[in-house]
Amino acid sequence: MIEAYEPVIGMEIHAELHTRSKMFCGCAVMDATLAEPNTTICPVCTGLPGALPTINREAVEQAIMVGLALNCQINTCAGFARKNYFYPDLPKGYQISQYDAPVATAGWVDVVDEEGVAHHIRVRRAHLEEDTAKLFHFYATNDGDYALIDFNRCGVPLLEIVSEPDMHSAAAVYAYATKIREILRYLGVNSGDMEKGVLRFEANVSVRPRGSTALGTRTEIKNLNSFRALVMATAYEIERQTAILAAGGTIVQETLGWDAVRNVTFSQRSKEHAHDYRYFPEPDLPPLYIEREWVAEIAARLPELPDARRARFVAEYGLTSQDARVLAAERAVADYFERAVRAYRGAPATVGKWLIGELFYLLNRDNVAIDAVRVSPEALARLIGLVDAGKLNQNSAKAVLGEMFATGATPEAIVAAKGLVQITDSEQLAAIVRRVVADNPEQAAAYRAGKVTVFQWLMGQVMRETRGRAAPEVARRLLRNALDGEI
Ligand SMILES: [Zn+2]
Repeated sequence: MIEAYEPVIGMEIHAELHTRSKMFCGCAVMDATLAEPNTTICPVCTGLPGALPTINREAVEQAIMVGLALNCQINTCAGFARKNYFYPDLPKGYQISQYDAPVATAGWVDVVDEEGVAHHIRVRRAHLEEDTAKLFHFYATNDGDYALIDFNRCGVPLLEIVSEPDMHSAAAVYAYATKIREILRYLGVNSGDMEKGVLRFEANVSVRPRGSTALGTRTEIKNLNSFRALVMATAYEIERQTAILAAGGTIVQETLGWDAVRNVTFSQRSKEHAHDYRYFPEPDLPPLYIEREWVAEIAARLPELPDARRARFVAEYGLTSQDARVLAAERAVADYFERAVRAYRGAPATVGKWLIGELFYLLNRDNVAIDAVRVSPEALARLIGLVDAGKLNQNSAKAVLGEMFATGATPEAIVAAKGLVQITDSEQLAAIVRRVVADNPEQAAAYRAGKVTVFQWLMGQVMRETRGRAAPEVARRLLRNALDGEI
């Protein structure tokens, strides 16, 4: 049944911009989880009569950065419009948004989904607007039902990124949404902290008979605040609509919510149309002229974007595409990696392996961000250098890294303090190996009788005797000689 129908999906992504002040006033943009409610507000963002907005240059600049990163055209003459609607979180009775003159139009992004399928997704537009206040609902309390409102978020700059309906699977939707998040984070305009609500998704889903070019009736799933909700809601809606069409029914155009407990979409209201909003040019703001020189100057200082960096990591450092993908996904990680590579004499891929295998493990275990880690990239490079020089074996080096991670001490200091320098001296090791074999005659006999698995156990004894400092290859060779030969 699924095969007979093709899903068609477009997305709207609302991203709060990390500017210092709000979109149209001087109030600070605060981390919603840190600020006391209603402390960063003023007559403009609470919509008091007579208060006049001014355009935040930094927000426009960030919108241009995103537009350029998404391969958009930047409009020289942009402008703001009033989108009229009533809702308690919007005291003015209208939202200042952009209608027919957005900052950026006609871009695209290329993504590869988790199954390796490539998708070219066009970006219709990216426009600036202001966020609403936040409502908190309380039900059946001792004081009955009530709601509280926090205006801190009201007026925070929002960038709405609208795609064309170019996605045809939940996998493509996921790949596109993660790519947009990755780019926003690279640009430093949005933290991507989904749980803080700084990035919100909407999916417009329709289904049509495969081979048809006409668009089916679509539904709009609002307020998807996690990737999981986005993917599950999209997949659910594709299936729901396909079942209706296959049974000869028709799809109702409507706005849906996602019930994350029951894993179903539910109807919120019938779809509003643009004319319901009575858009008209915002009379309190002048047109927004964006000079070419300004755009060129912003373009010149755009950071290298994740895809380009990934490709360069493969070409320049010889990383596998898998390692390059992991190391370039986040700008701070990529910066850390490149600093460590500059401080290291060996192959960059070795640094990549230590970063992905060992440091990431510690970061995840203790939930530490890479920019807060106490191991400097240079110290990590020196630690790997000690392994390369034969001064530390892998296991000791991992223990040293754990210590560096916990205390911020240098690898040299830890190695000296703990006496971890690797024992590579054959004669010193040979004596230890002979002693281990002599002390464990039953095991040695079992090995000689063909029970080869005992070898690892005996190796373990050698490592214990040396407190893990034996150079494993040397110890292994000596142990084999001692067991196979005459003692
Ligand atoms: Zn304000």
